[in-house]
Amino acid sequence: MSSLLKFCDSSDNYDSSRYVIFGVPFDATVSFRPGEKLAPNEIRKASYNMESYSLYSGVDLKNSGIYDLGDLDEHKRSEDMLEEVFSVVDKIVSDNKFPIMLGGEHSITYGAIKRVRSKVIFIDAHSDFRDSYLGEKYSHACVARRVSELIGRDNIVSIGVRSVSPEEIEIGTQRFFTSFDVNEDKNEVKEFLRSFADSSVYLSIDFDGFDPAFAPGVGTPEPFGLNPMIIMDVLRSVGDKLVGLDLTEITPLYDNGNTAILAARMVQEVVSFMEKNRK
Ligand code: MN
Ligand code: MN
Repeated sequence: MSSLLKFCDSSDNYDSSRYVIFGVPFDATVSFRPGEKLAPNEIRKASYNMESYSLYSGVDLKNSGIYDLGDLDEHKRSEDMLEEVFSVVDKIVSDNKFPIMLGGEHSITYGAIKRVRSKVIFIDAHSDFRDSYLGEKYSHACVARRVSELIGRDNIVSIGVRSVSPEEIEIGTQRFFTSFDVNEDKNEVKEFLRSFADSSVYLSIDFDGFDPAFAPGVGTPEPFGLNPMIIMDVLRSVGDKLVGLDLTEITPLYDNGNTAILAARMVQEVVSFMEKNRK
């Protein structure tokens, strides 16, 4: 574990914490724009620009039990990275704490789901359902497929999809709502989520799910994306069932700063929402 920088308002005590943040500086399978391994620290830096008080939830993040473990080691092989993600999430979940992973590319999610085994909500422009991509089974373009092998494709839903390969159309994918669906009628998504998340659910946010106007610093940007406010709808629908969170695919090399700020605020709003529900 490394990184001297800590997420804003994180306490210095692991044992009494409820939310454990860690970075996964991994971008070895990136297909277009690299730099995702630099994101964890940029998100941490951005977190210092915000008030600790969430007006939305009415919660002050100071003393709300955030602990920042720092970053995992850098790995070249996906398998090595996934093994380390699994063991860190295993430790956090076994200690009854809530894991928050700062990616890194989207492939990191598989390591967490291997441990939590809950249903998964993806925010993503892509279905990520290829069997392999550029010869790599653990590519960021295959993460939903790998996760489906663990928990079944009926236990996955993606929101914001607008880029799917002919191969994926042919073999079929997980259930998804396109960004066009969301734009037309958000209520359908909210209703679906409420019935989908009957027990526990993990939220995996690939930042290319949002429109490039909101999140320009991502590896594979796609126009016609989601408004980040969708996260509030997700929280209102399934916020009391969340068992883990990750934020992936951000690359500071292409960011004007806004993507990292959005990520930092999103971590704060999710924690605030959960803290409010806890009380
Ligand atoms: Mn994507
Ligand atoms: Mn993805």
